[in-house]
Amino acid sequence: MTTPYTNSTDVIHFVSGEPYVGTGTRSQAVFNPATGAVARQVRLGTTEDVDATVASALAAFPKWSDTPPIRRARVMLKFLELMNQHKDELAAIITAEHGKVLSDAAGEVSRGIDIIEFACGIPQLLKGDFTDQVSTGMDNWTLRQPLGVVAGITPFNFPCMVPCWMFPVAIAAGNCFILKPSERDPSASLFMARLLKQAGLPDGVFNVVQGDKTVVDALLHHDDVKAISFVGSTPIANYIYETGARLGKRVQALGGAKNHMVVMPDADIDQAVDGLIGAAYGSAGERCMAISVAVLVGDVADKIMPKLEARARELIIKNGMEPDAEMGPVVTGQALERIENYVALGVEEGAKLVVDGRNYKVPGHEQGFFTGGTLFDNVTPDMRIYQEEIFGPVLSCVRVDDFAQAVKLVNNHEFGNGVACYTRDGQIAREFARRIEVGMVGINVPIPVPMAWHGFGGWKRSLFGDMHAYGEEGVRFYTRQKSVMQRWPNDTARGAEFAMPTAK
Ligand code: NAD
Repeated sequence: MTTPYTNSTDVIHFVSGEPYVGTGTRSQAVFNPATGAVARQVRLGTTEDVDATVASALAAFPKWSDTPPIRRARVMLKFLELMNQHKDELAAIITAEHGKVLSDAAGEVSRGIDIIEFACGIPQLLKGDFTDQVSTGMDNWTLRQPLGVVAGITPFNFPCMVPCWMFPVAIAAGNCFILKPSERDPSASLFMARLLKQAGLPDGVFNVVQGDKTVVDALLHHDDVKAISFVGSTPIANYIYETGARLGKRVQALGGAKNHMVVMPDADIDQAVDGLIGAAYGSAGERCMAISVAVLVGDVADKIMPKLEARARELIIKNGMEPDAEMGPVVTGQALERIENYVALGVEEGAKLVVDGRNYKVPGHEQGFFTGGTLFDNVTPDMRIYQEEIFGPVLSCVRVDDFAQAVKLVNNHEFGNGVACYTRDGQIAREFARRIEVGMVGINVPIPVPMAWHGFGGWKRSLFGDMHAYGEEGVRFYTRQKSVMQRWPNDTARGAEFAMPTAK
């Protein structure tokens, strides 16, 4: 398959079913994080580019929204087949720009594919309710209709999966979609755009505008963009939600996280270690569902710390393209600096630095954006390394006396994306799941990312808006309900009614 660049180095937009160079002159470097080299440039779109894209999407909307859902589903089925066929290529594109290890990139593609598969069931998902004879000779039914042109703004950390949280359901429901991917790893979006075209999706139904704040603001302020789905950091999520809502749009804005794993004294300690190591250091901690805080209850700390330390030191950190790599580089030099500054801050704040991941060098990749796994003990809630999202391979351990303290700690945090509890006690597990103020809970499951038909979303400052991503909540987000009452009057129906109509 041809790569959708204007030449070997530029990543451009995709509008009306074609690569689109755009009107702008600004561009930004896209790095290969494993080598630190600039791999290509991505064009940064303009307000005029957004206007042209919205116009194209708007023109495609009447025909696409009138297309029977089963025919829209058939396009999704073909797209599903193509995504499965090209899974490995897509995973390699992700690793090359994001840095995560290839098996993890393949996992992300698979989780995206799950949602495409879910969207193939759109005829069933759009089925409305019908009540026969709500009054004599009268029926009432509800249907769900698409919104029009909708947009998705996505983060760097899942360049395939997070867009797939949005566009398959939006498109299958009859909307036209504009994706604004992260400017740090923009190529996966174009690869999927090509596959959608190959699947038979009409031009203009799916579009990609590359860019930064300029494009985001143009989408937010465009009258013809009816809904915005956003995933990214909390300050931007908050801004998107407030601005979009003020301008009368439907908005779902998923933000940052600080996910805790509570380890109870009765837990299987080795399983808890496996869970923590994978969830804290997998994808170099650049997952919104990564575990960044271990809450060690009672005597767990003394049992678990030596094992965590040994495992954190043994991590196999190298170019994510190498098959035995467990952790790759972080996404950019800037991210590397931010993460290592947080490690320095933790030391200043008085946390015990058990494993220091700073200044990690991978032979042959000295300029790559690598940092090692960092482990802190004796972290306390007043420290910034506890409060703030570091978004890197840094695990902070907090010691608490009992279950009640653990629950209180988690519930007091401003974020509420994911959480896990390791225990063998069913009653503790049940109480935890009921009392914890977090949107996604794992019981002996470190990263409880819900399946495609359950929907994804955090609580508190991890999600602004009312509906979670994908699943039936996604269908509701991308459609609006209409209620229809109908009668076919016979000759005896005469006269104005001045009282509130009731069933007769
Ligand atoms: P980010 O907020 O920097 O960027 C996200 C998107 O917003 C990008 O497309 C970017 O171009 C755009 N953007 C950035 N600054 C902007 C501005 N000032 N105005 C308008 N748009 C702007 O996030 P990121 O660094 O790409 O991704 C990491 C963050 O995403 C982390 O905080 C992580 O927790 C979060 N995340 C959350 C979830 C979730 O489901 N809650 C999932 C994945 C990532």
